[in-house]
Amino acid sequence: MWSTMQDEPLTITQLLRYGTTVTASSQVGTWTGSELRAENYAELGRRCARLAHALRGLGIDGDQRVGTFMWNNNEHLEAYLTVPSMGAVLHTLNIRLFPEQLAYVIDHAEDQVILVDASVAPLLNKILAQCPTVRHVVVTNGPVGAVEAPAHITVHSYEDLLAAGEDEFGWPEIDERAAAAMCYTSGTTGNPKGVVYSHRSIWLHSAQVCMSDGMQLSGADNALVIVPQFHAMSWGMPYAAMMVGASLVMPDRFLQPEPLAAILAATKPTMAAAVPTIWQGMLAQLEAHPQDISHLRQVVVGGSACPPAMMHKFEEVHHVPVIHAWGMTETSPLGSVARPPAGVTGDEAWDYRYTQGRFPAGVRARIVGDDGAERPWDGSAVGELEVRGPWIAGAYYRPDEGDPEEKFRDGWLRTGDVGKISADGFLTLTDRSKDVIKSGGEWISSVDLENAIMAHPAVAEAAVIGVPDPKWDERPLVAVVPKEGEQVDLAQLREFLAEHVAKWQLPEHWAFIEEVPKTSVGKFDKKRLRAQHAEGSLNITDFQ
Ligand code: ADP
Repeated sequence: MWSTMQDEPLTITQLLRYGTTVTASSQVGTWTGSELRAENYAELGRRCARLAHALRGLGIDGDQRVGTFMWNNNEHLEAYLTVPSMGAVLHTLNIRLFPEQLAYVIDHAEDQVILVDASVAPLLNKILAQCPTVRHVVVTNGPVGAVEAPAHITVHSYEDLLAAGEDEFGWPEIDERAAAAMCYTSGTTGNPKGVVYSHRSIWLHSAQVCMSDGMQLSGADNALVIVPQFHAMSWGMPYAAMMVGASLVMPDRFLQPEPLAAILAATKPTMAAAVPTIWQGMLAQLEAHPQDISHLRQVVVGGSACPPAMMHKFEEVHHVPVIHAWGMTETSPLGSVARPPAGVTGDEAWDYRYTQGRFPAGVRARIVGDDGAERPWDGSAVGELEVRGPWIAGAYYRPDEGDPEEKFRDGWLRTGDVGKISADGFLTLTDRSKDVIKSGGEWISSVDLENAIMAHPAVAEAAVIGVPDPKWDERPLVAVVPKEGEQVDLAQLREFLAEHVAKWQLPEHWAFIEEVPKTSVGKFDKKRLRAQHAEGSLNITDFQ
């Protein structure tokens, strides 16, 4: 028997319509370096209509891909809403990709139009000649002269195109299962892989972002969106904001601790989201230049493991709760959020908050051992995490090209993350499968060691990798970045660590480094650290 309910598709057009009419007075603002350049959502809606007319004029009349090569800003939000609502597909391009990877993803997705921020045009200029599918480049926030395009590409000014448009657009009916946006993973092995989100997956994910047990984004929020729009869709915040009318603060290119502190002071956001390295930098900034940030009712941290010491510092010194979350490009990205269950307080609550979080109803999870058998949710059995659900990828773009890493198994996404799940559904990750240190048949969690070392007051950052060992297969090597002006003694640091980890896990190889190498999205780049070790460029102290 079928239901008697209406079959209203869950589309981004619906979010655009709601956000820009019912919550028309909410606003999005972009930081210019000294102030906020804001537009309210009514104005946003008019500019989206104008952009849609402009893109129609450039030949976007179906599911063609429109790339964005932009910072987090008003114009990027306009593209986020307009392109999918026209029935086309938004392709967010990571401005930190290597040129050859950038050319690869543009070509692979067959982008026809690219919107580019003038400040990053020089990066795009390098590869446009290798992009045969691109026909138009539209320049935002600067002169068209910023783009040097080969003959097959026409360059336009974003503002001129919008000025020629109209305030209303006849948005088409769209199948909720149709592609709305795509994003390539950074491709730690092989070429980047495309994840294609549907209108439906984005709609349902947005609702999860707004749930009180999710990221808790509400219409009362003024949210600072630090996590880039070109990285896992800013964790879904731009779309979710349209669902509830949350205002947004976009930092544009001002992502260093000092300008971020200025943005906090000027715009007083109620929440913010970013990877741990951003928050580590912010803590150091606040230590040097104290500032009240208690207007933040929460900051959401994910993308890599959040060091507990950092969570404590934010809460105890700055009175701001840090909420730990887990996800990946393939999971839209929100997979789990660490909010303790009802009635849990004190240290027990902290134990819950350190975890990667609890799975929501929309994410099914299982832990699978090396033998392919499912492990129990008992808080101790460890294995690879696999997930499925309505906002989890079931394949990469162009599945006919194969699934080289076998990321999908019987309808489940193999995350490549290793961990355990408690009986009440909280995930604790111990590592990425490729970062686990296999020592004498046992596994050592690089993340546990890093968290323990980063709790030392003189340590700014620490990354741990496994290095080959003739007796044990692998042993941990610790790369330490001391805090500015601090003297750190490696032997003492090792003694400090010995108080927190089992003796057999205690690393014997240590090195000071100036900075932990980071990936294009600000995570520890252990591949590069391993390469530095292999080429002998780390100055290692050995302990026995
Ligand atoms: P990339 O592979 O470029 O890092 P993603 O941004 O999709 O691409 O990263 C997803 C991965 O980031 C996850 O598979 C996991 O390894 C890691 N990750 C995300 N959130 C957390 C977290 N809270 N704790 C530990 N690791 C995390």
